[in-house]
Amino acid sequence: MITVRVPAKVNVQLGVGGLRADGFHDLANVFLAVALGDEVTASAAGPGEGVTLTCSGPDAAAVPLDDSNLAARAARLLAARHGLGEPDVRLHIAKAIPVAGGMAGGSADGAAALVACDALWELGTPAGTLLELAAELGSDVPFALLGGVALGRGRGEILDPLPVTGTFHWVFAVADGGLSTPAVFRECDRLREEAGTGSGDTEVPTPDADPALLAALADGDPVALAGALANDLQPAALSLRPSLAATLRAGTEAGALGALVSGSGPTCAFLAKDAEAAAAVAEALRASGTCRTAHATYGPVPGAGVLP
Ligand code: ATP
Repeated sequence: MITVRVPAKVNVQLGVGGLRADGFHDLANVFLAVALGDEVTASAAGPGEGVTLTCSGPDAAAVPLDDSNLAARAARLLAARHGLGEPDVRLHIAKAIPVAGGMAGGSADGAAALVACDALWELGTPAGTLLELAAELGSDVPFALLGGVALGRGRGEILDPLPVTGTFHWVFAVADGGLSTPAVFRECDRLREEAGTGSGDTEVPTPDADPALLAALADGDPVALAGALANDLQPAALSLRPSLAATLRAGTEAGALGALVSGSGPTCAFLAKDAEAAAAVAEALRASGTCRTAHATYGPVPGAGVLP
């Protein structure tokens, strides 16, 4: 039996370019892995049992346990790459990452299942091959393998690790219900059309990483990082879920240095000065009635790894 711990991510910058002919958007996506994470356990199953999935945690009911689950897809993809046919494996997801929350929880479980099955089946798949398989599963899966801080370009799948100093303290305010990532991108395009700027890739400039944000990460400077936090999907998430404005305000009033919607939302992320400030912001958010719950955590942390 192998258990893998895998982090959620927050996008400290999410620059969204115009809609491309292939339906994707070019992104400048600075990912940071946080200690709020899932654990995926892979254990041997009898011959002919196939892939079975179970899930525990407060959001377990919202996780699909069919073949669409990224952990199950990861196990099958890894087996196929090694010519193993339909694998027999039991996968259990201990879910702490909010579901459909903009923190790449499904992608995290896909990455964790790749690592767990690789270890359980003693395949020794090279890291580069695991990254390739991860990219096949989805744009956010490679980062969950890598962890730390990285710049994703293209549709997010071209990843370069970034230098970072120290630890940043974060709070995540979890909303009731999720937001569909494709719906938030569509709303972003719609708002751009409505504003008259156009939404195509010839109209919207190709996004790039913000040098001030990269310097703040390299320097380990939370005040500078807070000033540079940016998410081009935030207006779309707020348009679809106007109540998030009150959540962002509540965390800011409680002393957060900076606040933004995490990825496609509806989870909101807050950067705090230190661990003590993060605990106070989380407490204030829980008391504010503007979110279902709030978690204080920290990052960057490493990517998917086997627990001893
Ligand atoms: P992202 O930030 O990558 O856009 P997200 O954090 O908003 O993703 P996820 O939690 O990954 O959202 O879930 C999005 C959808 O993926 C869910 O509604 C669910 O149908 C599907 N899904 C597939 N596998 C999983 C999984 N292991 N855990 C949670 N959701 C999963």
